[in-house]
Amino acid sequence: MGSDCLFCRIVAGEIPATVVRETATTLAFRDITPKAPVHILVIPKEHYADVATLAQGDPGLAAEVLATAADVADDEGLLGDGFRLMFNTGTYGGQEVFHVHAHLLGGAPLGPMLA
Ligand code: 5GP
Repeated sequence: MGSDCLFCRIVAGEIPATVVRETATTLAFRDITPKAPVHILVIPKEHYADVATLAQGDPGLAAEVLATAADVADDEGLLGDGFRLMFNTGTYGGQEVFHVHAHLLGGAPLGPMLA
């Protein structure tokens, strides 16, 4: 995708981000406007628009994104108290950046999602 995609530009190092973990295929960095004490975005380096496209197009890479998210949750000390991992998807899902990203949220009680 390249220059039109914000997160591709972060992968390319063209836009700064606070990276907390990088693998050959994934990147995890802190959200610029955190909604919880820990708010990290986990992405595949390769461009896929959303989680459905990723899971159908490359299930192995989707699994690598999940594994990176779990490793970051461990690094951030979230495994004991728990955390939320979510993919906003499409317009109704509230997605604003169309490069698939998992939101990893934690560090405080988040409450029920659908209360
Ligand atoms: P979405 O609504 O697409 O699921 O979430 C996009 C997320 O990207 C938002 O939480 C927003 O704060 C974050 N974001 C937008 N622009 C930037 C940026 O330039 N850097 C970082 N680190 N996060 C960003």
